[in-house]
Amino acid sequence: MTTLPTQAELAALALETARRCGVDTDALAGDVTTTSPINGLPVTSLAWQGAAEVDAAVARAQEAFLAWRRVPAPGRGALVKRFGELLAEHRDDLATLVSIEAGKITSEARGEIQEMIDICDFAVGLSRQLYGRTMPSERPGHRLMETWHPLGVVGVVSAFNFPAAVWSWNTAVALVCGDPVVWKPSELTPLTSLACHAVLQRAIAEQGAPAGLSQVLLGGPEAGEALVGHPGVALLSATGSTRMGRAVGPRVAERFGRSLLELGGNNAAVVAPSADLDLTVRGIVFSAAGTAGQRCTTMRRVIAHRSVADELTDRLASAYDRLPIGNPMAAGTLVGPLVNRRAYDAMTSAVEQALADGGTLVAGGGRALADLAPEAYYARPAIVRLEKQSDVVTRETFAPLLYVLPYDDFREAIDLNNAVPQGLSSSVFTSDVAEAELFLSAEGSDCGIVNVNIGTSGAEIGGAFGGEKETGGGRESGSDAWRAYMRRATNTVNFSGELPLAQGVDFTV
Ligand code: NAD
Repeated sequence: MTTLPTQAELAALALETARRCGVDTDALAGDVTTTSPINGLPVTSLAWQGAAEVDAAVARAQEAFLAWRRVPAPGRGALVKRFGELLAEHRDDLATLVSIEAGKITSEARGEIQEMIDICDFAVGLSRQLYGRTMPSERPGHRLMETWHPLGVVGVVSAFNFPAAVWSWNTAVALVCGDPVVWKPSELTPLTSLACHAVLQRAIAEQGAPAGLSQVLLGGPEAGEALVGHPGVALLSATGSTRMGRAVGPRVAERFGRSLLELGGNNAAVVAPSADLDLTVRGIVFSAAGTAGQRCTTMRRVIAHRSVADELTDRLASAYDRLPIGNPMAAGTLVGPLVNRRAYDAMTSAVEQALADGGTLVAGGGRALADLAPEAYYARPAIVRLEKQSDVVTRETFAPLLYVLPYDDFREAIDLNNAVPQGLSSSVFTSDVAEAELFLSAEGSDCGIVNVNIGTSGAEIGGAFGGEKETGGGRESGSDAWRAYMRRATNTVNFSGELPLAQGVDFTV
């Protein structure tokens, strides 16, 4: 029988775990009460910070920057190496906090911390590979090259659903690039952020690096707005809804700051007649129902060839019926709670809209465990079969709600994949090489992440992560995403003893 921890048990576990990570939990006080989505009940009380604290944090970070940019990049990598080791030591603690505050099941919460460790490894290697290019100069006796320098203070605004990893993607890379980080985490996950910050502060102290390299500001959108508008923030990396990005992007641009936007997704899988349906069903169920549908890369649409749509829908519905919903920290649970009532209401109204648009509910829908936890919102992952695209399908509903749409021609499937305002992740399930290649080509999916025979979620840190259109265009994590955190200078050195001008210009006086 499913049971949930009591309010007292969960609150005690959260505080004890945060303390183990180095958070001074005795100092937590204030009039803001945080809750856990597991039971919807209070965890702790703390204070939110405002514009004055943002100013002070940015000033401390600017001071740290002046010292940190002088440390050679491999030396900066040594700090990140230690940080990664400490994260590994606190893997289970941090995962517990992610489960308590974001509602993730244990294996996904551990996976999130593993992702932090992985990005530290990546960044340590990167600290010896911040390459600039040399180009052949058109002038004799000249050297033309580019160099990369630390950029300045990086502001990070992050969402509730990756309360630890998104910050570390930014922070590990920013630190080796020579930049301090000021973090405004989601207001829903403050203990996780304090714990992550405390672990990094321990690494900073051990390595004798400036304390101002990492700072955390607890608060809501107001603290975020103050950080976004601050002229001392050189790069503002914001992860969250497209609504948030629409407010943030122009404000940063107004002051000629740099922004990196990671916003909402509305991700689809195309399922072709030749798809291996066993693999496809597993891939879809993890991407669509995993994390209770609360990943930016969650699969929200399946575009299935008409010849396989019925069988696929039946098999998905039967897999959905078997999904264990419950306490995310209990062994065997695959679907934890939604983050709050607002998320549940959004799911309910999207299902109603899809049914009004002619859809049929083929699996799930409605609330689970309401008698056990009236203040928590566990949703039954839902599938709605639709015959054609409707307005509700073009919106991101941040919950486990999957639409299944049919297609007849592969190019029509690509058009449907692209017919939404967001452009984060996409996949095709097929055994036909030509279809796979077309989907990956310039005429194929318009998303930042395009996969073959794998779901839309669960990216590795080695690749650049991000998406197009209303997803914001930013790229973070692996590949060459580090360039966003550095300033490029083009240098021309003349060792010829003459002064020839480029393009043969003659300016002799
Ligand atoms: P949200 O937009 O409500 O909040 C995200 C963060 O932005 C929070 O810290 C919030 O306080 C802050 N914020 C909100 N308005 C702001 C403003 N005007 N100025 C400055 N800061 C502001 O998002 P959420 O509900 O926490 O997270 C879910 C959303 O995040 C989904 O849309 C999801 O797709 C998206 N997301 C995207 C990615 C990605 O990499 N593309 C990753 C994770 C989540």
